Amino acid sequence: MENVNEPYKISVVIPCFNEEAAIEAIYNATLKAALPAGCEIEFVFVDDGSKDGTLDELRKLAAKDGRVHYISFSRNFGKEAALLAGLRWSRGAYTVTLDADGQDPPSLIPQMLEAVSSGVYECAGTRRTTRKGEPAARSFFARLFYALMGKITEVDVVDGARDFRLMNKKYRDAVLSLPERNRFSKGVFPWVGFKIKWFEYENIERTAGATKWSFWKLFLYSIDGITAFSSKPLAVASFIGVLLFFISAAFIVFIAVRRLAYGDPVAGWASTACIVLFCSGFQLFTIGVLGQYLAKVYTEVKQRPHYIIKETR
Ligand code: UDP
Ligand code: MG
Repeated sequence: MENVNEPYKISVVIPCFNEEAAIEAIYNATLKAALPAGCEIEFVFVDDGSKDGTLDELRKLAAKDGRVHYISFSRNFGKEAALLAGLRWSRGAYTVTLDADGQDPPSLIPQMLEAVSSGVYECAGTRRTTRKGEPAARSFFARLFYALMGKITEVDVVDGARDFRLMNKKYRDAVLSLPERNRFSKGVFPWVGFKIKWFEYENIERTAGATKWSFWKLFLYSIDGITAFSSKPLAVASFIGVLLFFISAAFIVFIAVRRLAYGDPVAGWASTACIVLFCSGFQLFTIGVLGQYLAKVYTEVKQRPHYIIKETR
């Protein structure tokens, strides 16, 4: 148990990409959360290269309230990079990560804080129990993705888990100790382990603006997630390769026997064409899988920074 009489800080990290209409609201809602006495709050907004007035909003807020800090990127580097910058920056004994759009209720923070500060849990996570307001096809593919991730990776990717978390310093440092560039947060956070207390709530629609996730972006994101946390797709390729080898061996025997027994008028060009198409298609697919991993290795070895900071306060 932490010493409750000792004042301590809780850092609230909020990634923002074109969220000018949401910032004030999330700031106010967070301040409304009934934090225990002796708990100070600090805001770490990360402007992920917004093209609207997000940065102006943050400057205004920071000028008004000394507890507000912001980091502004030179361009859009993605939410994962924004979260990383916020976690690196936060100085509190506890860190909360929260979306700017009002889909994560800050009113849960006191309960989350209680769970983590009791010392039993290192992290409090949240998951939404419904996918209300989401297209049916998207929900279906999301479920499929979670089922697949559960099967082929050793990390426990929780269906509906949000990036709304409260963690202690130990957990935060563990997450920061992962140096990789491909920071699939639904995998990175569970990968570090520890005890996580889950809080659930129903899906809340965003307060303003629109989601930045198109179906195609989500699809690419899921491929990123799979290749970042599993090498099973490579094994599947080898497995099917071996399987095809045995099938073709059986075919060779079959054809040889038929030739010896019956003689062989030239026939079967259609089946030959099918086999050639199938095998070359499968080979291209396999090269594509290999390419995915190679691309990942390429980005890692370049060792580029995760983001570039333009301005901070
Ligand atoms: N976000 C970001 N960089 C991006 C995309 C999103 O910092 O490139 C932020 C965004 O401002 C929001 C959070 O990440 O605070 C979640 O984004 P969004 O609401 O679009 O995702 P969803 O809630 O639909 O998963
Ligand atoms: Mg959202």
